[in-house]
Amino acid sequence: MASPVAAQAGKLLQRLALRRPLLAATSQTFQVTSRRWLNLQEYQSKKLMSDNGVKVQRFFVADTASEALEAAEKLNAKEIVLKAQILAGGRGKGVFNSGLKGGVHLTKDPKVVGQLAKQMIYNLATKQTPKNGVKVKKVMVAEALDISRETYLAILMDRSCNGPVLVGSPQGGVDIEEVAASSPELIFKEKIDIFEGIKDSQAQRMAENLGFLGPLKNQAADQIKKLYNLFLKIDATQVEVNPFGETPEGQVVCFDAKINFDDNAEFRQKDIFAMDDKSENEPIENEAARYDLKYIGLDGNIACFVNGAGLAMATCDIISLNGGKPANFLDLGGGVKEAQVYQAFKLLTADPKVEAILVNIFGGIVNCAIIANGIIKACRELELKVPLVVRLEGTNVHEAQNLLNTSGLPITSAVDLEDAARKAVASVAKK
Ligand code: GDP
Ligand code: MN
Repeated sequence: MASPVAAQAGKLLQRLALRRPLLAATSQTFQVTSRRWLNLQEYQSKKLMSDNGVKVQRFFVADTASEALEAAEKLNAKEIVLKAQILAGGRGKGVFNSGLKGGVHLTKDPKVVGQLAKQMIYNLATKQTPKNGVKVKKVMVAEALDISRETYLAILMDRSCNGPVLVGSPQGGVDIEEVAASSPELIFKEKIDIFEGIKDSQAQRMAENLGFLGPLKNQAADQIKKLYNLFLKIDATQVEVNPFGETPEGQVVCFDAKINFDDNAEFRQKDIFAMDDKSENEPIENEAARYDLKYIGLDGNIACFVNGAGLAMATCDIISLNGGKPANFLDLGGGVKEAQVYQAFKLLTADPKVEAILVNIFGGIVNCAIIANGIIKACRELELKVPLVVRLEGTNVHEAQNLLNTSGLPITSAVDLEDAARKAVASVAKK
């Protein structure tokens, strides 16, 4: 059954996995269970690429119009391209709230770079951003190159392939999703054995499928191999280059870049994780991430406090089936500590929309007694003013229930998820 709330939450999660790769659309649960926290801007990704032999344009990054002008003068190029740095894709077709159209601008006159940049340090709305757009804080000022052909290239860690896969199309440019939908025969894939690495024959075949001819074929294959090596070296889950282009002078160039990373590799990718650009997150998401909690905002009035993305979806659905609306969900994950429970409550109750809290924890790895102690501490210290319904199940549940029952706090306990949802919805309706 299609569940409306899960679909809404799914959409949100999708928005969070910004500039989603082509294949992700086929595995929504993958996105739900593995939200990526690390996001780099295009200029940061391109720095990693150029440090590893991948061909990108010369560029500077500017925070102000005068810095942009200075950068254009330093580049001393025939033509300059200005690119708004936001995490969402579709910038080329985006619109600024300054009135300027297009998040990517080309000009042959370095004198207008300042004026253009000035109109770009505004909100930019694209088909991947919220309606009001995202505030642009940095503009990339790069040497523009003529493009004779735009292709698409991505390397993804793909579940259905049990490893990396190269995905490419000779029809690159702005709307790759459309190509995938209308001309699937123009999407080419090469499954890579992670132990053997990319074979020359695979890189050559992809280069050919992308339409690189003559000496360009070797050059493209070489770039593809370098991109694959980078993908492995930095523990990426996605490297997407669109356009992977060709110039009339016979150069293969990565004109755009989007890289996603494996969160579990943070311990060995410290330099990259230190570059994390969190400026576009909701402040509450950042605050949650500081305590290893995952927060997703929704628009109802019942806060959900759960462990695991699956349980979060189920909780949201059962609330709506009982006539209520979830305000958000906060996912504790496994290995939870008492202090995290306290922080989680602090975050949930800081949201003025919240009129009730539903705790739905299934103790597998999680010890219910730790949750109960965290809840009791939070209720006392935060002087909780909204009804609290708690459903705990699993490891140490009897001790946990005993702790809650003898706490003297007005906590409603529930026997199962259905019961919990009914009680939470009723507590809001009474008000
Ligand atoms: P996106 O719209 O967010 O994916 O931003 P891109 O960086 O992919 O830029 C959008 C489009 O602008 C590209 O598909 C190109 O057609 C064009 N573009 C970007 N950089 C250059 C450049 O240096 N020269 C030329 N001629 N076009 C460019
Ligand atoms: Mn692009």
